[in-house]
Amino acid sequence: MSGRAHAGTNAPTPRRVAPFLRRPVAADDGDAIETSHTSGGGAARGGADLERDPLVVAWEVTRACGYRCRHCRADARPRPLPGQLDAQEGGRLVDDLARFRGTILVLTGGDPMLRPDLEDLAARATDRGLRVALTPSATGRVRPARLAALRAAGVGQMAISLDGPDPETHDAMRGVRGSFARTLRIAADVRAAGFPLQVNSTLTRAGAGALDAMAERVAATGAAMWSVFFLVPTGRAQRADMLDAAGHEEALRRLVTMRSGLPMRLKVTAAPAVRRVEAELAFEGVVPPAPAPLPVNDGRGFMFVSHDGRVSPSGFLPLEAGNVRDASAVDLYRGAPLFRALRDPARLRGRCGRCRWRAVCGGSRARAYALTGDPLAEEPTCPHRPEEDAACST
Ligand code: SF4
Repeated sequence: MSGRAHAGTNAPTPRRVAPFLRRPVAADDGDAIETSHTSGGGAARGGADLERDPLVVAWEVTRACGYRCRHCRADARPRPLPGQLDAQEGGRLVDDLARFRGTILVLTGGDPMLRPDLEDLAARATDRGLRVALTPSATGRVRPARLAALRAAGVGQMAISLDGPDPETHDAMRGVRGSFARTLRIAADVRAAGFPLQVNSTLTRAGAGALDAMAERVAATGAAMWSVFFLVPTGRAQRADMLDAAGHEEALRRLVTMRSGLPMRLKVTAAPAVRRVEAELAFEGVVPPAPAPLPVNDGRGFMFVSHDGRVSPSGFLPLEAGNVRDASAVDLYRGAPLFRALRDPARLRGRCGRCRWRAVCGGSRARAYALTGDPLAEEPTCPHRPEEDAACST
């Protein structure tokens, strides 16, 4: 444990204020906390070279978690699984990741708060110049003293999950009665500890009708960012809970339309077609034109490291490029054939391969893989028909 990382009655002084807390951030520039790739509406960050440097690396520091959420990507269990990277291996991984420029390291899980060396890992990462974010599960482990310790260790952002606008909906998704109330308490504690708060919500077929109520609820937490994850059927998440193509389109249009009226920033995850929708709504005059977004997608601007060191394009796309136990994560991101293929729009197949939006959108590679077994297949939940779009055939 980091000696300075534990707070008593005196809250420790943060050892550094992460630079990204001092400036406004755009919805797609990687400053939000994700366990999958980010997408939606933000401006491109000058100088970002997604071939070399991901905006976000999510490291699943453990698969252990006290919750058993019905849509859990990790299929988390109460205890750590065999093969979890130990403190030394984790330290080496952090040192390697620090070779990236401008990357945010998200320490995720499972529940990262179950990792006893969490503060040490965060301190090591910030010492080496990485920006660090955390996605704790809403348990009794998220106490003000621990939050202060994590702040002192250099953690710059916190994200918590809220999956429904009321206790019934949220608790049913999380499988724990009382989780909704606890999550709201933790949200307040996170803000009181000085963190900008991000709220993550998984959008399912059942929840699509409550988007406005969700937005209101998230706004009431004082969140700086609301990230809406479009469900990918992997782990415990079921295909039957996923919106169909029409449902995706309707939800994306609603989210883009509501964005300007919200007190927090809004982003969309695992649905890069939001970039097409945003451009179409701007063309229709429904929303103002947005700056060009970064084309972040699974493996392009995003990388995931599992609890046992496997490197994947995202947490929702469980194909392996290699393992950090015998390769550099940086080298895998830059050179592994899987990552290179995912970054090449010319490799896309089906409608995505013929679509004029393929370079900025490209469809969710994770969902394509989950539904077809081919990570380069067309995105099954996008209703766009390039053959009916004159600009796609020119
Ligand atoms: S067809 Fe594919 S590339 Fe085109 S907008 Fe839909 S998901 Fe994006």
